[in-house]
Amino acid sequence: MKDLNGRNIEYLRLSVTDLCNYRCTYCMGEDGVAKLGHSDILSIEALAEIGRAAVACGIKKIRLTGGEPLVRKGVVSLCRMLKSIPGLAELAMTTNGSLLPEYAFALKEAGLDRLNISIDTLDETKFTELTRRGNLRDALDGLAAAKAAGFTNIKINTVLIGGFNLDEIPKLIALTRDEPVSVRFIELMPIGECAGWPKNRFVSADAVLGACPALVPEKTEGVAELYRVPGHIGTVGLIRPLSHSFCGDCNRIRVTTDGKLKPCLHSPLEIDLNGLTGAALISAIKKGIFYKPERHHLNEDGQSASLRGMHRIGG
Ligand code: SAM
Ligand code: SF4
Repeated sequence: MKDLNGRNIEYLRLSVTDLCNYRCTYCMGEDGVAKLGHSDILSIEALAEIGRAAVACGIKKIRLTGGEPLVRKGVVSLCRMLKSIPGLAELAMTTNGSLLPEYAFALKEAGLDRLNISIDTLDETKFTELTRRGNLRDALDGLAAAKAAGFTNIKINTVLIGGFNLDEIPKLIALTRDEPVSVRFIELMPIGECAGWPKNRFVSADAVLGACPALVPEKTEGVAELYRVPGHIGTVGLIRPLSHSFCGDCNRIRVTTDGKLKPCLHSPLEIDLNGLTGAALISAIKKGIFYKPERHHLNEDGQSASLRGMHRIGG
């Protein structure tokens, strides 16, 4: 369905939990988040019903996210329920990968089509420093488990952080040499935990082009500009919410784990879906799509106008 500004909205990011087994410094505080009660989060059945209603409104792709989606009990059953919705073309998940050794085969069998795995550094010490409680080995084992389970075209998400991982850009790009993975560099956005960080932490994705002049542009894929090093099997993606606003092409809406539809990541606008079913649910989702804000104001305001941090939205 089209929004007020003529954009075709086809992509839902569905957050299944705001809890996480990591505490990435840019995303969450050291103590994590207060656990919401059972009645304050959407049940697995309610998440599936929102998926069905969203597809009835023209959504073609659903991505499960969080918090860490794999810490949510019942996430494999949810995949199975969503995958059976006629008209859904793609079911994807963004995960920190740490629990994939346990879940990758079950997710594949339940019908999950695609995986994005977040890895911000390939240095073991820096990985633990950034995530506060993760270790690189688990994430790499997760990537290997995903491949072994039959996932293809896996995307690796790397958030660019000034003073932290820019020196690793060539090493991360080297992952595309022999593997059909896409390494996607994402500009850090001033939202939630990192909203007040010093300006030098927020760098343009041009840093990637500077660090690897061999990259040749290929095409755009959704919000990512794709490049490739000639001869490499995999691709490199740049996602630039700060330096090149892609609001004009934004095709996504989000639903939080406490049942709020967010038509724009960086707007305070939220539509409560709690307790709605059937035609009332479809009508609320249509309203959210129609009134999707035209663009974000990150560059004018210096930080996001969203009332929530990323772990409470899902990225
Ligand atoms: N826990 C999962 C993970 O880390 O992949 C899924 C949720 S996480 C919120 C989704 C994505 O958002 C991750 O790739 C993460 O790096 C990214 N992210 C979190 N905070 C961000 C920020 N301030 N700017 C840009 N990306 C961010
Ligand atoms: Fe957890 Fe993902 Fe946020 Fe890191 S970025 S704390 S893994 S939700």
